[in-house]
Amino acid sequence: MFKQITDFIFPSACPVCKAHVSDHGTLCAKCWAAFNWISDPKCACCGYPFPANLDLGSKPLCPVCAAGENETDWMRAACVYDDVSRNVMLPFKHAGALKYKTVMSRAMINSLRELETQGPKSEDKDSVRGIDLVLPVPLAYRRLWKRGYNQAALLARPIAKHLNVPMDVNSVRRKYKPDMGHMNYKQRRENIRGVFRVRHPENIRGKTILLVDDVMTTGATFAELNRVLKKAGARAVYGIVFCRVVRAI
Ligand SMILES: [Zn+2]
Ligand SMILES: [Zn+2]
Repeated sequence: MFKQITDFIFPSACPVCKAHVSDHGTLCAKCWAAFNWISDPKCACCGYPFPANLDLGSKPLCPVCAAGENETDWMRAACVYDDVSRNVMLPFKHAGALKYKTVMSRAMINSLRELETQGPKSEDKDSVRGIDLVLPVPLAYRRLWKRGYNQAALLARPIAKHLNVPMDVNSVRRKYKPDMGHMNYKQRRENIRGVFRVRHPENIRGKTILLVDDVMTTGATFAELNRVLKKAGARAVYGIVFCRVVRAI
C-alpha cells in the first residue's frame, strides 16, 4: 500500500531516459539493452570477456591469468566501458549524478553472485560469505574535499549491506597524485606505486577483501592495492567494478 502511494506521488523513472519503470533504481528495457553487460564466456579469474560462442570449458583463463600475472585473486565487472557506460559512470563520478547509484550497485551485486558457484572457493557453497570486508578504492583527501564524496564508497555501501559484511574506509589511505590519464599500464604501475598506505594492518590481516570501484582502466590501481594489502597480511583480494576497459590481449 505504502509503495503504491509513493509510486503514485513519485513515479519510478529510468535514471537514463526518464521513461516510467516499475521499480525504483532500474533501467527501462531499452536503456538496459544498450549496455554491453559482461556474461559468459569470460576468464574465470579476472572476468575478461571472451568472444561469444567460444567453447572454452568450464573454467577458462585469459593469457594474463594463465601466466599468473592477474592483478587480484578474482575480479568482475558488470559491463564493458564504452560510450553507454561512460555516460553513466562519468557523471556519477564527477558531476554528482547520484541517481545512477542504484543501477550501478545492483549490476555489481549481480556480477558478484557468481562467487557462489564459480568463485575461487567454489567448493564452498557459502563462499560469498568468505568475503570479510568491503573496501572502496580510497580517494586522496584533496580529491575527496573537492568532489565531496568518494564514488567508490557510495557503490560499496549497498554491496557491503547485501553481503552483510562491514565496509572499511579507514584502514587504507591514499596520497594525492596528479591524474593518471593518458598513461599506459607500465607508467601507471610506476606512478601509483607507494600511494596507498595501510594504517590499520590489524583490520586487514587474515581477511578476504573485496575492493570496489566504479571503473577499471588498466588495472594498475587494483594491482597496487593487492600488493599493499597482501603485504599487510590479507588472505585474498577480490575486486568488483561497474565497468572495465576491454583491450585485445
Ligand atoms: Zn531508459
Ligand atoms: Zn584473466
